[in-house]
Amino acid sequence: MELPTSLDKVATPHGWSFEFELTGEETEWEQANEPAVTARKPLWTKWQRHSVWTYCELSMPAVTVEQLEYRYGERTALAGVSFDVAEGEIFGLLGPNGSGKTTLFRILSTLLPVQTGKAIVGGYDVSRDPDGARRQIGVTFQSPSLDIKLTVLENLIHQGRLYGLTGTRLRTRCAEVMEQLGVADRARDYAERLSGGLKRRVEIAKCLLHDPRILLLDEPSTGLDPGARYDLWKVLQSLRDEHGVTILVTTHLMEEADRCTRLAILDLGNLIAEGKPDELRSMVGGDSLTIQSDQPEQLSQKLQQRFGVQASRIGDALRIEREGGHELLGEIATGFPGEFRSLTLGKPTLEDVFIKLTGRDLQTTESPTTGKKKRGSHV
Ligand code: ADP
Ligand code: MG
Repeated sequence: MELPTSLDKVATPHGWSFEFELTGEETEWEQANEPAVTARKPLWTKWQRHSVWTYCELSMPAVTVEQLEYRYGERTALAGVSFDVAEGEIFGLLGPNGSGKTTLFRILSTLLPVQTGKAIVGGYDVSRDPDGARRQIGVTFQSPSLDIKLTVLENLIHQGRLYGLTGTRLRTRCAEVMEQLGVADRARDYAERLSGGLKRRVEIAKCLLHDPRILLLDEPSTGLDPGARYDLWKVLQSLRDEHGVTILVTTHLMEEADRCTRLAILDLGNLIAEGKPDELRSMVGGDSLTIQSDQPEQLSQKLQQRFGVQASRIGDALRIEREGGHELLGEIATGFPGEFRSLTLGKPTLEDVFIKLTGRDLQTTESPTTGKKKRGSHV
């Protein structure tokens, strides 16, 4: 490796890049220490090498997934997925049921082996160093994980012991995570008495006890009402802003996906788009016009004949993407009264992005013939 100059980015043999700031005299550069050792330390690491003090900032992603494939027998759950998640992101995996979100989380949390490809979590390759990877993460899956016959505090103490915490350290961590998740006033309540939203927050508190850098949350707001969902997201944002936790979250709800700093859209095991919510929305031009109709097929043909527009059929609705959608809306309203139940005009949503890319909406369940994309009909 060559001696870096001030604030140079240096790629290590492990493929991570470091930023170096050299202060003092340059001396001969020695082979860098094993990068994985540094990666476990906080963002700023101070190395002394001869008389040279080197400060290096790690710019290693929190999570890297490379060409990850996974098959359950004949069924392909992941078909070669690659992405990076930077430290401090709230990274969303948006996709309908069956798109491979849970499988991906199972691999990242070492519950499933890597079959093909690579997954690195907090600097640890999940295949080569699963224990290291596990220490970096807290995970909640969709299925409830609280013992409802124990109190909130008892649930946390029990979990903390599994992580090897005892005595004052255990008590302190329990108090801290209850505070972070806003459940401190419910410490003595039995879990069964809590609302769905509070239960979910206690589950997240549980997986924060060992102070992980990365949280994996699989559909955390499933079953929560909109108010509880809103509260949960406020908590997630504060975990990121105040405690620097990197969060990976799966969802099939576009309003949740909108709150993420960046998103990957999954469909049938393929990553079909990646970017900030605004960037993804800009893939859909103009306005989005939705027409609910009892006879969508017929109406679609009429729209094609009269206005030359092609509508996507999504269930019993028709969706048209168009600049100046308000004019078309007026023309449809006057031209075809009685042939629609509702006409809605809006700016493109992430759902529109998904529809544009797949021809289906996010609520549509997986195709029975996995591996082949089931296209929504363009009528
Ligand atoms: P998601 O979480 O996005 O709903 P999953 O990862 O659960 O997706 O599923 C991806 C695909 O893998 C689906 O086709 C699903 O039916 C299949 N699958 C998931 N778990 C299993 C399993 N244990 N055995 C066989 N197939 C599975
Ligand atoms: Mg799932």
